[in-house]
Amino acid sequence: MNTTTRHEVLVMGAGYAGLGTVIQLAARTRKRGNLRVTLVNPYDTFTERLRLHMTATGQETAKPNIPELLDGTGAEFVRGWVTAVDTEAKTVRIDDDRLLRYDTLVYGLGSIADTASVPGVDDHAYTLNSPQDAALLADRLTRLDGGTVVIGGSGLTGIEAAAEIAERHPELQVVLLGRGEPGASMHPKAKAHLDAALARLGVRVRSGVEVVKVLPDCVELADGSSIPAAAVLWTSGTRVSPLAAAAGLTVDERGRVVTDSALRSVSHPDVYAVGDAAAIRQGYGVMHGTCQGGMPTGVHAALSILRVLAGKEPKPFRFGYYHTPVSLGRNDAVVQFTRPDDSPRRIVLTGKRAAKYKETVTAAPWPTFARMKKMPAAGALWPHGGRYTRIRSAK
Ligand SMILES: Cc1cc2nc3c(=O)[nH]c(=O)nc-3n(C[C@H](O)[C@H](O)[C@H](O)COP(=O)(O)OP(=O)(O)OC[C@H]3O[C@@H](n4cnc5c(N)ncnc54)[C@H](O)[C@@H]3O)c2cc1C
Repeated sequence: MNTTTRHEVLVMGAGYAGLGTVIQLAARTRKRGNLRVTLVNPYDTFTERLRLHMTATGQETAKPNIPELLDGTGAEFVRGWVTAVDTEAKTVRIDDDRLLRYDTLVYGLGSIADTASVPGVDDHAYTLNSPQDAALLADRLTRLDGGTVVIGGSGLTGIEAAAEIAERHPELQVVLLGRGEPGASMHPKAKAHLDAALARLGVRVRSGVEVVKVLPDCVELADGSSIPAAAVLWTSGTRVSPLAAAAGLTVDERGRVVTDSALRSVSHPDVYAVGDAAAIRQGYGVMHGTCQGGMPTGVHAALSILRVLAGKEPKPFRFGYYHTPVSLGRNDAVVQFTRPDDSPRRIVLTGKRAAKYKETVTAAPWPTFARMKKMPAAGALWPHGGRYTRIRSAK
């Protein structure tokens, strides 16, 4: 790095991954005048996505303030929605038409529910894409006297939402629809607990079904039948922002930025990609979007950037999964411990102890960011691959 000019690192997206990058970078470089870190995000509060099913049932959750977290780190916060990335000019345009310049860009725009692949979902279904979307569903649910809430998608988000809605709204019938069975990839002990919890809460599970259309008052299935619905929540599949593809970055078939082992775009090495928006290959395959994987990618990108700026080779990112905690309302949960490739182990936690575990995991990111501010190595407390990895100084 030329020490007479300031190197501009621009991080797009203050999610679990992007914030990990910003705090790690800023904490390690705050005394250096030759590197500036800027974070752009549409809101100045951090969205705990892991709690959006709670927001959707009217529960108050914390709204941690991002500029307050950055205070004292030297990193700048810009409130805005990115509308375009120009990799030639090395600029990012935001919705008020401002252009933000970068030397190194970190792409951490996350993912949202895939509302585009089934007709009517965009127009008639609710999502858990943002606190605002979740609050719209909460408002709708409180105004229903009875009727059926259909949840499209029986993955982990669908399961958590179904349990939460059934627990908070016993006056409503909750129907969970999916191609596969809920918890199909779990150990039979974990799946049995999950099935029993959904049954206890009165959730009607229908597996092996394909939703082909969502209408204002029902969902239509591939077998020609339909289910009346006072509200539909869509949690099936995810999609990412089209900005990466539009900018000419190499993306995979789902639009995620394809990275090398140091988390740099394979087509544009001055762009790093982290979290759900990145297609990161490991020995077992391409990582799928989780907060447990997203946060370490953010920290690793920061370390890669610093090593490259110091003229060193960045280290390869290594990650293995270690657990799948799933809430089943406020007092129950199931925690499936996993092998690094995400396959289930025999170890399973259920009931109140699991609920406490899940809450601890959900609450952990923000205090960890705050600790990382003072002690960058606190990022190493996020386990990679079932082991605790030591994050060394990148200087
Ligand atoms: C209800 C629910 C429960 C979940 N539970 C779990 C769980 O228990 N465990 C787990 O590991 N994962 C869970 N997940 C998945 C997890 O939330 C994601 O994998 C994680 O949030 C990904 O982190 P990220 O930083 O990549 O993206 P995000 O956390 O989504 O952050 C992306 C950020 O980018 C911003 N952004 C997007 N587009 C733009 C733009 N154009 N311009 C500027 N900013 C933009 C967004 O506003 C956001 O702040 C859950 C998800 C949901 C919805």
